[in-house]
Amino acid sequence: MTRSTTISGAVTWFPHQHFVNGDWVSAEKEDVRPVVNPATGLAIAQVAWGHGRDTMTAIDYAHQAFTSWRRTSATNRATLLSRVFAVLMANKSTIGRIIALENGKPIEQAAGEVDYAASFFRWFSEQARVLSERAVSHPDPSTHTIVAQEPLGVVGAITPWNFPLAQAAKKISAALAAGCTVVLKPAPETPLSALALAWACEEAGLPSGTVNVVHGDAESIGKAMLEHTAVRCLSFTGSVKVGAELAGKAAAKLKIPHLELGGNAPFIVLDDADLPFAADQLVKLKILTNGQTCVTANRLLVHRKVADVFTGMVLSRFQKIKVGDPLDPETTLGPLIHQQAVEIARNLVISAVEDGAHCVFGRPEDPLELDDHLQKGTFFPPTLLTHCKNSMQIAQTEIFAPVLPVITFTDDDDAVALANDTSYGLAAYIYSQDTIRANDIASQLDVGIIGINDMRPLRAEVPFGGVKESGMGREGGIEGLMDYLSAKTISTHRHGVDTNNYAI
Ligand code: NAP
Repeated sequence: MTRSTTISGAVTWFPHQHFVNGDWVSAEKEDVRPVVNPATGLAIAQVAWGHGRDTMTAIDYAHQAFTSWRRTSATNRATLLSRVFAVLMANKSTIGRIIALENGKPIEQAAGEVDYAASFFRWFSEQARVLSERAVSHPDPSTHTIVAQEPLGVVGAITPWNFPLAQAAKKISAALAAGCTVVLKPAPETPLSALALAWACEEAGLPSGTVNVVHGDAESIGKAMLEHTAVRCLSFTGSVKVGAELAGKAAAKLKIPHLELGGNAPFIVLDDADLPFAADQLVKLKILTNGQTCVTANRLLVHRKVADVFTGMVLSRFQKIKVGDPLDPETTLGPLIHQQAVEIARNLVISAVEDGAHCVFGRPEDPLELDDHLQKGTFFPPTLLTHCKNSMQIAQTEIFAPVLPVITFTDDDDAVALANDTSYGLAAYIYSQDTIRANDIASQLDVGIIGINDMRPLRAEVPFGGVKESGMGREGGIEGLMDYLSAKTISTHRHGVDTNNYAI
């Protein structure tokens, strides 16, 4: 197979069909939908568009594959997962380009996403081998009891567009390591990254049916995952609204919901922080994936003693952001995913200004200058808003755009109260040269992951996930396997010995 993306941006190197039971197949209704490059507004591919029937078929195959995959030795599972890691890494630049084309994130970040996605296959290949049963001491010496960790069954996985490869990789790698099989529904904006991952699984030699990808109508695909009895876990990454709805329906069918939802991370800058370093990290974090990251710095909380000088540092860094074509290595900020996202961000900024915020950068009178081929792209200017309050809509909403509201605080207790004053609980960042003070604040924050002087505390080796409305369950770390496993007790009594022991 030739692996290339043409100069016009069309992605041509693997079939644009569903990947089911090891085959590339058309949707049952022979339907296709375009995938659009958000930087140019041009279609880059037509991808099969499936429905409930396509999903039911894929689940049937995943269920068949489960019976043998669960009995595949941990060593073989580990070897196959590490091969997926190798295939992804060997094709990093091509897959990175696909991510940049369909998602709009700058090419260097897109390549970094391939590293990140691949690292989950390496990590879970190692975890597959150390999964073990444990012996439990029993009061009766003629009884031998073990607790085994068994795979749940088929996992229905649903992913968003912001990390189209990594979100799918996290779910698939952990589920396969546990011995489960997967049917994945990617976001309609970014199916090509998921298909590239399916291709990598095929190249690595994963058995047919262990990984399946069906792209298409969310409602009927979701319904099929909820109704098919073989699906034992619904692993969802996306918005709180959809996650809560699906979790309710999954619970009604007694399927395990695994939820990675939105965030509203505070970026707390204490008065003793290394301010230039904190400003560098903040802006880098803010513009990651063009401001559309669940763990981004959604609110800057800065000590009022250093607020003016720190905001000035942030402003000077905002002025250096290079908005442009994601394929240009000089670009540091690409487009938002679609026009609707632009409208939502614009309305949030308008409402913040109406509520008293000052727009110090990204004002409508400073329009973006874009190359001719980007005129139909869905770009949004980096925007810095001072004089914000935590009660404003902009501070209580997951912004999902390169917009930063600045809120000041008076002391550490005030910072903690403001940070926790949100329905979300995914991530937080604390910048201080006093790590004992920063750790004391960290211990009081209601979130799942905290970076102290660290804007990227995420790795395959550590659990990632939130509390409150940011979800339940963890991806990565040894915890990442837990939602795909179920404890099974096997008690073996020596033949012929009757203890008459009814103690409970
Ligand atoms: P979304 O609207 O909830 O969509 C996420 C996925 O769910 C898409 O594939 C979507 O497909 C699908 N979906 C929607 N309704 C469905 C239904 N009834 N049944 C089955 N599937 C359904 O979220 P988004 O706006 O695309 O993604 C951004 C959100 O994801 C943000 O809130 C972000 O914070 C969150 N996120 C969280 C994490 C994390 O790890 N915590 C990571 C990344 C992103 P359609 O688009 O076709 O409806």
